[in-house]
Amino acid sequence: MTGEIKSAGRIVLLGAGHSHAELLSRWRARHPRADVVLVNDGNEFVYSARIPRVVAGEAALSSGVIDIARTARAADVTFENARVTAIDRAGKVLMTSAGRSIPYDILSVNAGAAPMPTVGGRDRAITVKPWRPFLAWWARFLIDARRDLVPRSLAVVGGSAGGVEIALALARRVASADVPVRIALVESRGRVAPELSLQASSHLRGRLRAAGVEVHRRARGAAMLDEGGGLLLHNGSVLAVDAAIWVAGSRAPALLAEAGLDVDERGAVRCHATLQSLTDPSIFVAGDCAGRGIEGRTPAGVQAVHDGRLLAYNLPRALKGNSLKARPARRSWMSIVDVGHGEAVADYGVLAIAGARARIWKDRLDEAFLARVSVPREA
Ligand SMILES: Cc1cc2nc3c(=O)[nH]c(=O)nc-3n(C[C@H](O)[C@H](O)[C@H](O)COP(=O)(O)OP(=O)(O)OC[C@H]3O[C@@H](n4cnc5c(N)ncnc54)[C@H](O)[C@@H]3O)c2cc1C
Repeated sequence: MTGEIKSAGRIVLLGAGHSHAELLSRWRARHPRADVVLVNDGNEFVYSARIPRVVAGEAALSSGVIDIARTARAADVTFENARVTAIDRAGKVLMTSAGRSIPYDILSVNAGAAPMPTVGGRDRAITVKPWRPFLAWWARFLIDARRDLVPRSLAVVGGSAGGVEIALALARRVASADVPVRIALVESRGRVAPELSLQASSHLRGRLRAAGVEVHRRARGAAMLDEGGGLLLHNGSVLAVDAAIWVAGSRAPALLAEAGLDVDERGAVRCHATLQSLTDPSIFVAGDCAGRGIEGRTPAGVQAVHDGRLLAYNLPRALKGNSLKARPARRSWMSIVDVGHGEAVADYGVLAIAGARARIWKDRLDEAFLARVSVPREA
């Protein structure tokens, strides 16, 4: 396997994403017996699969938020609440916005990816991540729509599974609150959820139609125009909407490319199957900020969780200079898309099933993950 690194030092985990949450749950059972530090900008880990239900008003955000500082402590990992601004690879040190430096011997980055900040439109365009500002924006939008009772329209930019889930959740929320908001979904490719099978995509198309979501295919959102101007598309036409939520165009944090690591078109770090950066074997990457390497991959929480299992094994071994495991080459991943009303669409390879069974399955997987990574207050 790649990357012979012999150091008896410290492992630093940058970002409390899905991979590091899974890794901590594993290390709680068998402590890493190493000096390990988790650095995250905030004490919480937000489970993305819960967000659509929060948007729909069917769950509280707290049901998907974990106190990751407590989970870290339970695994004998030191927690640092800080925003990392730079990785100095020559000095093997992280710099934080508070001016602190955090040395590492092995660095593991699970810092996610988010849509680029939107252009134009001031408060009429928002990115879906970070989650809290988006949810606050959506709550305000609903309050204004209820108060004014003037029909409004909203576009979700990006019709991948996450975008479809958000569009359906918005539609459920406005239906249950009885506010006059029209929802549109804008997807640049020829079908919704193009990363899933044709069958799954067709199930989702049916759900969008039933929910009254207008789908615009082969349309790519460019920017929200000024007051009353609508959503400018890349082909120069304009979609008449009052506001837009950006789900598409997710990019990994700029500090990875700035550190001189080899990155792909999303700014995600190209890595070996061991999750080591192609450029620097002392840096591991996981989740959405791990880019294309030997094996193609699409960003998804489920893949991030698998990465976490591999990291839990590889990081302590890398510290000791032992051989590392490689991620098995897999072409298919199980994806389950919440479509509301107690149903979901499960997709695996070329097969998809839709209905209540898929939703029960998704709920079980979600609950099991949340139970694994959370630590009760008294523990
Ligand atoms: C609406 C929606 C629904 C989705 N639903 C699903 C689903 O049901 N199933 C699924 O598999 N996938 C789903 N996804 C995809 C999923 O959200 C992502 O793949 C997942 O969030 C990736 O997680 P991650 O582990 O890479 O990082 P994240 O979970 O995004 O965590 C990154 C962490 O790093 C921290 N961080 C970032 N930069 C810094 C820094 N400089 N310094 C310190 N800390 C930093 C952040 O604060 C954050 O805590 C959905 C996506 C969307 C948009």
